Amino acid sequence: MYELTVKKQFDAAHSLWGYQGRCSRLHGHTWTVEVSVAGAGLDENGMLVDFHEIKRLVEKVVQDFDHQYLNELEPFNRPGKETNPTAENIACYIYRLLKNALASGLELTRVQVWESSDAGACYREGR
Ligand SMILES: [Zn+2]
Repeated sequence: MYELTVKKQFDAAHSLWGYQGRCSRLHGHTWTVEVSVAGAGLDENGMLVDFHEIKRLVEKVVQDFDHQYLNELEPFNRPGKETNPTAENIACYIYRLLKNALASGLELTRVQVWESSDAGACYREGR
């Protein structure tokens, strides 16, 4: 099994509803998203999949978050069902968007979202 990981950064603000602490106030991060995919076979070039192909998928998802106030965006802003845009929830949302976008033969193994260099959350299914 081979596993490949790509990274993409975006800048965005958020605040945490109902949280007691300074993260309840509006503030921003340079978020880093790491996406890993796995598969068993390599192509004739010795690649599981072209890095550019996965980067393109990740950029498409992340571009909607860039320079935004995340609390105002789907899926965090649903009236009556507001969800905190934590690293955990962002990772899960990105995972679900990417899961069905992958070519056959590739498995999305994890989405990790870092809100700083030393604090990140990972979402994965199955294992
Ligand atoms: Zn924060």
